[in-house]
Amino acid sequence: MKIFKKIIVIKNKQDKVICNCCGSELDSRTDFLYVNKKWGYGTDLDGQRHSFDLCADCYKKMIGKFKIPPEKGI
Ligand SMILES: [Zn+2]
Repeated sequence: MKIFKKIIVIKNKQDKVICNCCGSELDSRTDFLYVNKKWGYGTDLDGQRHSFDLCADCYKKMIGKFKIPPEKGI
């Protein structure tokens, strides 16, 4: 026979996202870009992990600096 007891579990739930570039707060319904990159061999960032979030406006500013624009699809 198993005897159970009630426990309370506290979990982290995303409430909002803050754009790393402009600092604006995005509510949980607003889409954003999440980047999580562990750099590897051949760069001076080897072994470092970088992660950040960007709002759509900052994303558009970033890709506006690209020589070759990102491919778009649906
Ligand atoms: Zn932003």
